[in-house]
Amino acid sequence: MLKTRSGRCIKPNSEYFESISSKKQHKCLVLKIKKILKKQESLRSEEEKDLIINFQDVVKNINLTQTKKSNAQLHQEIVIDEEDILKMKCSELARAIKNSKKCVVYTGAGISTSASIPDYRGPSGLWTMLKKGVKVKIPDFSLVEPTYSHMALLELVNKNIVSHIVSQNCDGLHLRSGLDRTKLSELHGNCFVEFCTQCNSEYIRLFDVTEKTAFRKHLTGRYCSSCPTSQLEDSIIHFGEKLRDGMPYNWQGANNNVNDADLILCLGTSLKVLKHYNCLWPKKKADLYIVNIQWTPKDKMAKLKINGYCDQVLKLVLDELNENSNMCLNVTNYEVKSDPLFEIATELKEYEYNTTNKSLLTKDFISKKNPIETKSESGWFTKCFKKK
Ligand SMILES: [Zn+2]
Repeated sequence: MLKTRSGRCIKPNSEYFESISSKKQHKCLVLKIKKILKKQESLRSEEEKDLIINFQDVVKNINLTQTKKSNAQLHQEIVIDEEDILKMKCSELARAIKNSKKCVVYTGAGISTSASIPDYRGPSGLWTMLKKGVKVKIPDFSLVEPTYSHMALLELVNKNIVSHIVSQNCDGLHLRSGLDRTKLSELHGNCFVEFCTQCNSEYIRLFDVTEKTAFRKHLTGRYCSSCPTSQLEDSIIHFGEKLRDGMPYNWQGANNNVNDADLILCLGTSLKVLKHYNCLWPKKKADLYIVNIQWTPKDKMAKLKINGYCDQVLKLVLDELNENSNMCLNVTNYEVKSDPLFEIATELKEYEYNTTNKSLLTKDFISKKNPIETKSESGWFTKCFKKK
């Protein structure tokens, strides 16, 4: 009896040995052809040339695999436009924004990296570092603050220059910037929000509610105050999950705005997930502008791709709008005292204090520039990530 790699016992027969030997032969052939392909044509022997001609399908497969490998490497590369090119592109984007009748913005992890929240595929991203075997420090989400990009977008929405924001971030920073919730669609939920599945009551908290949640495990460990037997659930679409009932938040808002948008601006997103949401890519084509430091699958469709960091690009764009379009845009600094979460949050009852180990957002919170490790893990970021 022989054992396969998985431990399954098999009874060897002539067919088995034939298949093994033909697999081995094929492997040898592929290796041989790979070696020949590396040689200059003029240095190949007649026998080698014959091999290439007779095994075109193998050559084709080798070339295809090689192209895929090089593309994958290219897609990982960080590209930053040189200063003068960046300025020129930002002026072009500013003109497009000024002339657009309806501008919708899609945001991804790249707009939160300057808040010390790692992205996924960037140079210090979670998945990039995991591949290198390096553990990434993840901040407690109540201890970080909205970035310049969040505050700039708030100003653009408040001045009716941007109609709607569709975000795939769960960090809650758009909401905390002061953005009107009707102008925001959070595709994958918000880590400060939990809700009752019986009465649909929503509980916004001053801490990350996803500590105990993970892929297909949404119970947060707290109960609805109106339905005492109903455990609250997080609002997150975890990695690998399909959209849940009632999620994403304000999907209708996104639909209403995207359909007649004439400008779609993508900020800090690889678009690898967003490209699958067909309704975000309407048939009536809007001009597409992309700001990202890596390749995205929509780059070829974009009217303009800006290779730069979101904060820097938005600063240049807003300066341009102020200087050449007299728009009087004033990007305010985030102030924790004015964080809208304090107004809308439901405080924990005394008997619920032990249901979380996460840090609470407090009005005397002092911004820290460096990542702060969580006291406990975030289900949204950490546990699901390990499933990857
Ligand atoms: Zn309820």
